[in-house]
Amino acid sequence: MGKNSESLFQRAQEVIPGGVNSPVRAFRGVGGTPPFIDMALGSRVFDADNLQYIDCVGSWGPMILGHCHRYVVEAVKKAATRGFSFGAPTAAEIEIAEMIVQAVPSMEMVRLVNSGTEATMSALRLARAATGRNTIMKFDGGYHGHVDSLLVKAGSGGATFNLPDSAGVPKEVTALTLSVPYNDLKAVREAMTDDVAAIIVEPVAGNMGCIPPQPGFLQGLREICDEKGSLLILDEVMTGFRVAYGGAQALYDIKPDITTLGKIIGGGMPIGAYGASRKLMELVSPLGPMYQAGTLSGNPLAVASGRATLSVLRNSSIYDDLEERTSEFEEGVRKAAEKHGVPITFNRVGSMWTLFFTEGPVTDFESANQSNREKFARFFHLMLSEGVYLPPSQLEAAFFSAAHAKKDILQLIERADRVLKKVAWEYST
Ligand SMILES: *Cc1c(COP(=O)(O)O)cnc(C)c1O
Repeated sequence: MGKNSESLFQRAQEVIPGGVNSPVRAFRGVGGTPPFIDMALGSRVFDADNLQYIDCVGSWGPMILGHCHRYVVEAVKKAATRGFSFGAPTAAEIEIAEMIVQAVPSMEMVRLVNSGTEATMSALRLARAATGRNTIMKFDGGYHGHVDSLLVKAGSGGATFNLPDSAGVPKEVTALTLSVPYNDLKAVREAMTDDVAAIIVEPVAGNMGCIPPQPGFLQGLREICDEKGSLLILDEVMTGFRVAYGGAQALYDIKPDITTLGKIIGGGMPIGAYGASRKLMELVSPLGPMYQAGTLSGNPLAVASGRATLSVLRNSSIYDDLEERTSEFEEGVRKAAEKHGVPITFNRVGSMWTLFFTEGPVTDFESANQSNREKFARFFHLMLSEGVYLPPSQLEAAFFSAAHAKKDILQLIERADRVLKKVAWEYST
């Protein structure tokens, strides 16, 4: 890593735990020093030593238009000159709410919050308020933010550091959380009780690496919820406006009771949202008895960034382009891995993907954990030195953006080919 990033990392560790404000950024999953990012443009990020990388992280999902999209930058600049926060309603909030409701018909009303974590936390509260039940079911390796009750067999950073259950969460709280294997309807049926308020699921798992739902899995959850009088929460914080404009629920034709959003709807600004039918949302304060609030909720800058991002997405063929480019990348990487004799599993839905270092198939947390993390770390660092910025963990999804042009994809394939050859050679001796 460059000199400047090295010294910034030293300094950061004195005053910030691990030198980072979110754990996986610290590179503990792969070792080494993270580049400190100075700026980004389009498909590229530049670090404090002015090294350039093709960005495959996209801020962990939000940057679907690439960095500094001109239209989004203009919208934020304009909003910034009109005041940062009022703690009072604005017209722009209605406009983004209308865009969300139009894109995702299962959401008849929506409440804006400040992060994906807040969205899922509120969605659980709503499900409990609506059903009068207490238990929540989730999936092993599923991550829904750092909500106390959901840090049970959680994906993302917890999984990366082999600490899927967090310290500091009372047993009494997690006693109300059931966790079962992803893509396993039998396990869901067996674990189901009459006290389950909701099943919360990532409709495409993204926080144990990218794992698509198997055919019938989401429909099965819908049926089980209907039979048992439980609610189905699709956590679309990652997949919303990513795998399709209408999210995974549009792609797989599945109607949840409650949806959570975040990431892309803020275009890189802090935001989250939860929504449901009018009937359910009327339980939310001030209409109903379920309390939920936020000083900065509906923040004008975040809303401006989100609105601009969604309007570009709505009026474009971006999803088709992303599918084409990402599938070209997938094919290139598969061929390279085969050529060099490196066993891999490439999982992908649209522009969301993970290259697992295992023969696979990878369908759940257990199979994701079969991956050779040492090999991944080697691949990761060789790619980094080739100027490719990947998520620094085997158990995270990577993303492409509309700014990843054909030539970026070709460069990525060429670099991956070189790196896989090296990895193959190193592991054969
Ligand atoms: C990122 C993510 C969250 C948490 O969102 P934050 O904005 O990081 O709090 C929740 N659920 C899913 C599926 C996510 O990918």
